[in-house]
Amino acid sequence: MKVLVAVKRVIDYNVKIRVKPDHTDVDLTNVKMAMNPFCEIAVEEAVRLKEKGVATEVVAVTIGPKAAQEQLRTALALGADLAIHVETDEKVESLAVAKLLAKVVEQEQPGLVILGKQAIDTDNNQTGQMLAALVGLPQGTFASELKADNDKLQVTREIDGGLQTVELTLPAIVTTDLRLNEPRYAKLPDIMKAKKKPMAVTTPAELGVAVTSQVKVLKVEPPAERQGGIKVGSVDELIEKLKNETKVL
Ligand code: AMP
Repeated sequence: MKVLVAVKRVIDYNVKIRVKPDHTDVDLTNVKMAMNPFCEIAVEEAVRLKEKGVATEVVAVTIGPKAAQEQLRTALALGADLAIHVETDEKVESLAVAKLLAKVVEQEQPGLVILGKQAIDTDNNQTGQMLAALVGLPQGTFASELKADNDKLQVTREIDGGLQTVELTLPAIVTTDLRLNEPRYAKLPDIMKAKKKPMAVTTPAELGVAVTSQVKVLKVEPPAERQGGIKVGSVDELIEKLKNETKVL
């Protein structure tokens, strides 16, 4: 079974986000970029399926600028066999990403597609669901455990206050939650080997998908600065402040 994994290039999660002075967007100048953490979990799961003999090939795909090939190389170093880069400098919204992934699914015919549950930059949490609808395949979202059994896949889903297990008939779409696995680090020899692994490059135009934006960002603002705390001298002073200053009592 071929497993297709969608990986997105995002700002590294350790970076403190800066907003552009004109509030039109986040400032990406000289900012460290990385693979979206939920996509790392997706790659790890695909590689584990290959190690268990369930998957025969792992294909990583990204949509983004030329620099996004770095994240594809990371996926190859982690164990993917082949990478597909859909190159574009446009900001591609979820629906267009899902349409492009649908074209790749049509070409590659994977038995399973694994995506992150959300990209930590735009926090959309919708690409996997849109892809499932576009290609007409069953979906198991927020997966915390996968069990493959012939043409069936059991997906344990993290839902509010508990877990739900569903059975999907393959081919299917899965999105990863945080507890699905702990991704490995790429080893130096694997990083070297990844440089020689195949990477196909295509474009949205070649795939016949328009990526024009349908959503206009009006304003981007950083979170409000936290006010410093104070120490009160007594319980009576605390109650007085809660009643008269913050008015929470
Ligand atoms: P989102 O719906 O934008 O929160 O993203 C959910 C998941 O969709 C990500 O974790 C990726 O697996 C996939 N995805 C989103 N954008 C891209 C992209 N530009 N290239 C490849 N995969 C993407």
